[in-house]
Amino acid sequence: MAVTIKTKEEIDILKAGGRRLAHILSELAKAVKPGVSTLELDNLARKLVEEKGDKSSFLNYKPAGAKRPYPASLCVSINDEIVHGIPNESPKILKEGDIVSLDMGLIHDGLFTDSAITVPVGEVDQAARDLMDDTRQALLEGIKAVKDGNYVRDISYAIERYVRPRRYGIVEELCGHGVGYKVHEDPYVPNYCLDDKGEKLRAGMVIAIEPMLNEGTKHIKLDSDGYTYRTKDGKRSAHFEHTVVVTKNGAEILTML
Ligand code: MG
Ligand code: MG
Repeated sequence: MAVTIKTKEEIDILKAGGRRLAHILSELAKAVKPGVSTLELDNLARKLVEEKGDKSSFLNYKPAGAKRPYPASLCVSINDEIVHGIPNESPKILKEGDIVSLDMGLIHDGLFTDSAITVPVGEVDQAARDLMDDTRQALLEGIKAVKDGNYVRDISYAIERYVRPRRYGIVEELCGHGVGYKVHEDPYVPNYCLDDKGEKLRAGMVIAIEPMLNEGTKHIKLDSDGYTYRTKDGKRSAHFEHTVVVTKNGAEILTML
């Protein structure tokens, strides 16, 4: 599918949806505590989404190559789980010292936004705090590279340049993407540099940027549930994501309060 440009009216809807998604994620973050189960977080996510008449774009979504639709409203990925942890099948209890990534897509008035945060469970060690801070900053570095006339690789380069000296593994198999009309649209937005400079960014393009950084190796493995990706070495991973619209002078973050 070709890259799409959203209209001013569509961007206004995406902004309203993005604000709601940011609100939901901030409420979920407040609910993250030792002893809380991932099932409780999924139930809360569904309640918060439905009370405003919206829908989770992940619930029942079947990505290309998946054997079954995704069964939950939210993705909850703990410690060595990178993304797509399923919260409502064999739920887990959050423990003091864990880090937990919350990732959700929202459909508001028919249009899609996507955002993720990683939050601590109670007190966490310094390395976990650094991993979360650095992943959030890598996302912001990527967003700063967004501008009409730049290329996707400028985003990738900005993220990689920030991450390399900090010696994290950058997940390569999973990456950012266009969004707005569907869960995933073109272009791919990798978090590391490819030879190809990729799509030219144009005002009105809507993209999700989402670095996933690992404490150790960049290599990943897929669980037998068909969804949960983990680090191959069992070390921790963090994930932050925003949906942004490309503007003449930069980017506007849509998934913000
Ligand atoms: Mg996401
Ligand atoms: Mg995404």
